[in-house]
Amino acid sequence: MSAVLAPTVQTAGLVIEFSGVGQTFTSSDGRPVVAPQDVNLGLRRHEFVSGVGPSGCGKSTLLRLVGGLLAPTSGTVSIFGMPVTEPRDEIGFAFQKPTLLPWLDVLDNVTFPMRHKYGRVDARDTARASDLLAVTGLTDFARKRPAELSGGMQQRVAIARALLHDPDILLMDEPFSALDALARDEMSFELVRIWSERPKTVVFVTHSIQEALLLSDRIVVMSARPGRVAEIIDVPLPRPRNLATLSDPVFTHLANEIRVKVFSRQPV
Ligand code: ADP
Ligand code: MG
Repeated sequence: MSAVLAPTVQTAGLVIEFSGVGQTFTSSDGRPVVAPQDVNLGLRRHEFVSGVGPSGCGKSTLLRLVGGLLAPTSGTVSIFGMPVTEPRDEIGFAFQKPTLLPWLDVLDNVTFPMRHKYGRVDARDTARASDLLAVTGLTDFARKRPAELSGGMQQRVAIARALLHDPDILLMDEPFSALDALARDEMSFELVRIWSERPKTVVFVTHSIQEALLLSDRIVVMSARPGRVAEIIDVPLPRPRNLATLSDPVFTHLANEIRVKVFSRQPV
């Protein structure tokens, strides 16, 4: 196994820690909606952790809590031991929808966080943005506006943007759901390559059990709303993972195990 393709998971210190985390929303008819509930989980440095679970169980909410976009109604989310109170620079976020600025071209969308934060984009940012566009297969579209791109391409722009400042923590909310199956596998392998070269702690929410198994060190399976952690599954598949991984008996066994848990839709 190549050292480059297998970042070491260090056990010293947790990067992200959920402690008794719960969220109560008020639905439009005034009733409380709890999702998630009592989540206790620690993510180690440079670990790749995926979350799977039924729709509405609170996966996106957990990412928003880590990102400081929302404050938990119970419990604490900490990063490097400090409770999260606001969005932080060391976090990159790729949402389910690409949320690009329609008046900027692709390259300027990718470098936008730098312009927004520092008021300017230097040559290094532009070079890195160009590299990321190459990785995401968008070089020929650098000067096109988002409206000229397919949904899948727009999503790849958003992923490149999230990676631009090489964040320590990457939060990804079903980032490949708009891509076709082929592009999805391709992006999964690219993401692992980027993560291997520039290790980061990744929290990745997906509906695809295959994607979770190809990418993750651990998979957190959540139960139906109110959304508790039903099970945490270690993924012992060797890296680098590739198409051959799909026929590994361990892969098949884990995929079935997770599928049964996710689709049983039982609260725990
Ligand atoms: P998931 O990503 O697992 O599908 P979410 O985290 O988006 O689920 O949402 C969990 C639950 O909380 C859902 O039932 C959703 O409708 C509800 N919810 C999320 N955000 C709000 C909000 N701002 N106001 C009211 N209800 C919300
Ligand atoms: Mg969601």
